[in-house]
Amino acid sequence: MSRHLVLVGGGHAHLPVLLAADDFIKQGHRVTLVSPAPHHYYSGMGPGLLGGFYKAQQARFDVRRMVTQRGGIFLEDRVEWIEAPKRTLFLASGRSLTYDIASFNIGSSVPSGPFDFERPEQIPVKPIENLLAARRLILERLPEPLNLLVIGGGPAGVEIAGNLHRVVSQHGAGAEITLVTGRRVLPDAHERVRSLAMESLQERGVRIREGVRIEGLDQSVARLSDSKTLSFDLAFVAAVVTPSPVFADSHLPSAADGGLRVNAHLQSVTFPDLFGAGDCIHFDPQPLARVGVHAVRQSEVLLHNLRAALDGSAFEVYRPARGYMLILNMGDGTGVLAKGALSFGGKRAFDLKDYIDRRFMRRFQGSSDHEHTGSGKASERG
Ligand SMILES: Cc1cc2nc3c(=O)[nH]c(=O)nc-3n(C[C@H](O)[C@H](O)[C@H](O)COP(=O)(O)OP(=O)(O)OC[C@H]3O[C@@H](n4cnc5c(N)ncnc54)[C@H](O)[C@@H]3O)c2cc1C
Repeated sequence: MSRHLVLVGGGHAHLPVLLAADDFIKQGHRVTLVSPAPHHYYSGMGPGLLGGFYKAQQARFDVRRMVTQRGGIFLEDRVEWIEAPKRTLFLASGRSLTYDIASFNIGSSVPSGPFDFERPEQIPVKPIENLLAARRLILERLPEPLNLLVIGGGPAGVEIAGNLHRVVSQHGAGAEITLVTGRRVLPDAHERVRSLAMESLQERGVRIREGVRIEGLDQSVARLSDSKTLSFDLAFVAAVVTPSPVFADSHLPSAADGGLRVNAHLQSVTFPDLFGAGDCIHFDPQPLARVGVHAVRQSEVLLHNLRAALDGSAFEVYRPARGYMLILNMGDGTGVLAKGALSFGGKRAFDLKDYIDRRFMRRFQGSSDHEHTGSGKASERG
């Protein structure tokens, strides 16, 4: 029986599903991808895009081409509302779409909170394309001495700070780079990893303010929780990410932060024809960090279970691994690697990240726009 599989979002967890679109179609099913853009950027290479390690074409997947080359349909659109009992999706363009099976991989974004992302100088680090645009903005303004503020001390904030230093210093300019974090830098990392990362930034003059929150940003002044102020030209917001609000808005069972509640089969806890993976879900069996590693590892189980949902075979269970490897791109050709009790910094760590990332890109870029650009760096996770 022909059925309609709708993939919502062309994120990391959907990449293997897109590669398998022709298998679904050969079996008589229809496959549609709804994505707001024809390209999806690989977040692991995002800081490297800012720092100029990678060109846009090297760090993105042509998800439109991936699905249409295999006989599927691409809709450049965004799902705004889900009417699950009627298996209908309502899109930003005003059209609606019915499905037999729908799979969501719509990721997360930086909540605006005290920020105003309509203002060009306040830059959320997601979507990753923002980092490319920010690089252009900085290059246009150099050699003007810039005050660059990074808000958030997690892995993304650390990588952004290091790569901002790279953009500026490679163009012979100077900048005041300040990283402000309400907690500690890399609060979940081992002390050694924290020191390696902090030393790397501080040796290059990046100022670090721990335990301080941003109360608000005026046009060029940040108000801090310790009553001080900081002048800035550009502020990069890398504080927290939250899942898309679309599930909660659609009254689907979702967690407090809005993530779609799924069971161990990555299937909605109440609607068996709805699946989800990556940053947009809340994995009911145990809370998971919002890192691409999970999106990538869930992708194969998701693919299996979408097949199973279409042909009635048995589902697989997603079993999160106990740990994962984190490698930070520090922006100076070095990295900081952490895996369990193992940690080290230096060029070897960056080279390993670069190798893993390139391999990941090669696997999914295939015949997409990677070919038109010659060289291809890439990144794979975990
Ligand atoms: C700067 C930075 C660096 C990072 N580096 C790493 C790293 O090295 N390793 C790691 O493991 N994690 C990293 N992360 C975390 C990582 O970004 C996320 O965990 C990862 O992107 C999650 O992948 P995803 O596919 O679930 O979502 P996303 O990457 O957010 O992709 C979601 C996709 O869905 C689309 N979409 C969104 N809304 C809709 C809608 N309503 N309808 C249709 N489509 C929609 C979006 O356009 C996007 O293409 C980093 C994060 C940042 C910000």
